[in-house]
Amino acid sequence: MRTIDDLDVAGRRVLVRADLNVPLQDGTITDDGRIRASLPTIEALRSRGAKVIVCAHLGRPKGEVKPEFSLAPVAGRLGELLGADVAFQPLDVVGDSARAAVDGLADGGVALLENLRFEPGETSKDDADRGAFADRLAVLAEIYVGDGFGAVHRKHASVYDVPERLPHAAGGLIAAEVEVLKRLTEDVERPYAVALGGSKVSDKLGVIDNLLGKADRILIGGGMVFTFLKAQGHEVGESLLEEDQLDTVREYLRRAEETGVEFVLPVDIVAATAFAADADHGVVAADAIPSDRLGLDIGPESGKLFAARLADARTVFWNGPMGVFEMEPYSHGTRAVAQGLIDSGAFTVVGGGDSAAAVRRLGFDEAAFSHISTGGGASLEYLEGRTLPGLQALED
Ligand code: ADP
Ligand code: MG
Repeated sequence: MRTIDDLDVAGRRVLVRADLNVPLQDGTITDDGRIRASLPTIEALRSRGAKVIVCAHLGRPKGEVKPEFSLAPVAGRLGELLGADVAFQPLDVVGDSARAAVDGLADGGVALLENLRFEPGETSKDDADRGAFADRLAVLAEIYVGDGFGAVHRKHASVYDVPERLPHAAGGLIAAEVEVLKRLTEDVERPYAVALGGSKVSDKLGVIDNLLGKADRILIGGGMVFTFLKAQGHEVGESLLEEDQLDTVREYLRRAEETGVEFVLPVDIVAATAFAADADHGVVAADAIPSDRLGLDIGPESGKLFAARLADARTVFWNGPMGVFEMEPYSHGTRAVAQGLIDSGAFTVVGGGDSAAAVRRLGFDEAAFSHISTGGGASLEYLEGRTLPGLQALED
């Protein structure tokens, strides 16, 4: 994969596909990690005299111009972090005013295009629709740099079709992410432990399939744990459950036994009467969740158990909070696992937007982890062994 070091960018217009999909609350950015992660590539291109045109998506406006999904707050924050003006045309992605802004860039200048997903062509499944939008993006620039790791698993115009139309290279973020993912898939230092949690159960079950042939231990917490507990015949009350995945999970447990992969499931659960911070809650045995309660975190004994199963690992990948960490009473399992990663001294990788946010929110030093990935879905699909369109497009 070519990187930006291989490009001659002075005086050229460079389109950078970044991942700036930050969480917003009432128009205010609550976590700017993804903007910060995008800075090095933008800064490197600027300092070498490129005219930098950044493009990205925010949320799911579904092909319509919706002001609440405008990248305007991101343009403001990006400008602050760069200490430079960022040209931005609200609600116009590739129209006349956006093109004029790009044309007005001086060497070293930066523009941000409006939310790519305001245009239906960005996410279209139809190659011609996507291609037509890609053409409009490609004419803005002379060179393409792919740096939006969080979107490389999407076959979208700005990720997949534009690099077909322009000389291209990987930005620093994608290059770094790929290097880390290689360490999780090729010549892995063992023991290799994987901790999985979060709420997107069926999304994440897929990765287990592939990990059963790669990891030595798989620790399960978060919302998906209840499908495992149920598969073992336990009551899970009102907890998150995917009935249609029970057979799959039973099959995983059977294969793990066959291949000697260790599944580590929680021994206790924090169960509450409602999905609320102030709901009545308490610790119960994992095989005795009351039928009228829902599990919102792994319990304290499980936190210790998980930390112990991470302690001697040489490689750890963690995706998905162990509980509803956004509410203090259910944040302790996630804290225990984060601390377990740090204490292991292993090569530790945290993947997933919410997992990365949890690390910051719980007050951990990001530098205490070997790598915090900006792309949850993308890193999971890579670990599943799938071909990622956005990486494939940068390869050739
Ligand atoms: P990531 O973004 O790191 O990949 P996910 O998006 O899959 O993680 O999941 C994050 C969400 O999972 C968090 O908002 C958290 O509150 C939720 N979660 C964790 N444990 C549970 C649980 N037991 N029940 C419901 N939601 C949970
Ligand atoms: Mg998430």
